[in-house]
Amino acid sequence: MSNEVELCVGNKVELFIEGFMTNLIAKNPHEIEFHQAVREVVESLAPFLLKNPVYTKLKILERMAEPERVILFRVPWLNDKGEVEINKGYRVQMNSAIGPYKGGLRFHSSVNLSILKFLAFEQVLKNSLTTLPMGGGKGGSDFNPKGKSDNEVMRFCQSFMTELQRHIGPDTDVPAGDIGVGGREIGYMFGQYKRLRNEFTGTLTGKGSNWGGSPLRPEATGYGTAYFAQEMLKTISDSIAGKTVAISGSGNVAQYAVEKVTQLGGKVVTMSDSNGFIYDADGITIEKLAFVMELKNVMRGRIAEYVEEYPDAKYYEDERPWGVKCDIALPCATQNELNGEDAKKLVSNGCICVAEGANMPSTPKAINVFLKNKILYAPGKAANAGGVATSGLEMTQNSMRIKWTSEEVDNKLHSIMINIHKACVKNGKQPDGYVNYVDGANISGFLKVASAMRDQGLV
Ligand code: NDP
Repeated sequence: MSNEVELCVGNKVELFIEGFMTNLIAKNPHEIEFHQAVREVVESLAPFLLKNPVYTKLKILERMAEPERVILFRVPWLNDKGEVEINKGYRVQMNSAIGPYKGGLRFHSSVNLSILKFLAFEQVLKNSLTTLPMGGGKGGSDFNPKGKSDNEVMRFCQSFMTELQRHIGPDTDVPAGDIGVGGREIGYMFGQYKRLRNEFTGTLTGKGSNWGGSPLRPEATGYGTAYFAQEMLKTISDSIAGKTVAISGSGNVAQYAVEKVTQLGGKVVTMSDSNGFIYDADGITIEKLAFVMELKNVMRGRIAEYVEEYPDAKYYEDERPWGVKCDIALPCATQNELNGEDAKKLVSNGCICVAEGANMPSTPKAINVFLKNKILYAPGKAANAGGVATSGLEMTQNSMRIKWTSEEVDNKLHSIMINIHKACVKNGKQPDGYVNYVDGANISGFLKVASAMRDQGLV
């Protein structure tokens, strides 16, 4: 292509992106996380859409960026002192072109419509990538479970589900967990759903293993992220074995990412929470991880307490782990937890692979640094899709009224992650051989949903 033609195509792409984003921002003012998530996808898809006007004519992407339905409701509950508390409850039913809405519930004080719309938008593409028949949704509340008693959490969950139950169902919308929603919260919500609807169906995933939960659902997101990183490394004839790995977070995703990386021969040296991070140069072994799991899941303590148990480790208050020397980084805490400066530090310290366990943990500037330096970088919608994929497997087991073994589920999860990786390579490989996983994931995820939307007419 001549320079002049290239410039002209480049201008058209820029114009398309800016036109799309100007409209989106005007329609959804102040929703900055939502704008950020959509922009990343529009940037990947613009060249493809301009070459395939059938999608632009039908305004497929515009329709995908508009939720099919948003439910916003009051959640009143009584605290242990007998006082009335009120939270906001949400469910964003984003897209049902390829299956029932599917996506987690987040309980965190930062939850708002912008965050849930970004998560729901990402979820649509992620669910499409899994190859399973699941649409996309996301929900939650600004309720903060930290410091609440079990009884308070139960009363909140029951009140939340009393309203949500009328909008969900096994063939309509199947929520799961996310930040602040683990086995305990899913249990309380499932109990209330069952009581109100008088039905035992697979309407929630992440259930307990003796009442409908799939083996390996708790492990799936973290395991899947490690499997995906392993596939990325294979493209440069390398592997996780012998690598030093920095992981952020100490919740569900982080814990099982630590476990799988360790099983694959890597050495994990960091974990974190919203107060700071710990650095353990000797590595967080399976035995030390058991301590973290007890600390976080049962005692509901802070990661700072790790250094009381293991004094050779160091705790860094109010800092994030990205300044530590590592070969691989797996951000597994929350959105925008890794910025441009962090990305530069990682690259200059020799990091060769970043796979996101969390949703949108890297800022756009950080992503630019990774792509410019051509290190292996995979966005959450590809690398953390193992969680929702296994939720999909839980739905299948519930519908079939059977339970697979851990080994069967692990094999399916592993092959799903390998296939997502293949799809990203297929649609993201550049002429010089570098794989742009952002483009690969966005294009692969979009194609399936877009063709279903075309088939189903203007709905
Ligand atoms: P958990 O609630 O189990 O753990 C969240 C972890 O992130 C905690 O260690 C928490 O620390 C930390 N964290 C939360 N907010 C912040 C913040 N603002 N700054 C620093 N650290 C923070 O959630 P999950 O492990 O389930 O989820 C983690 C990420 O993975 C999220 O982005 C989620 O959307 C994504 N994800 C989860 C899936 C799942 O199956 N659970 C599936 C796919 C993606 P603290 O205790 O201090 O709050």
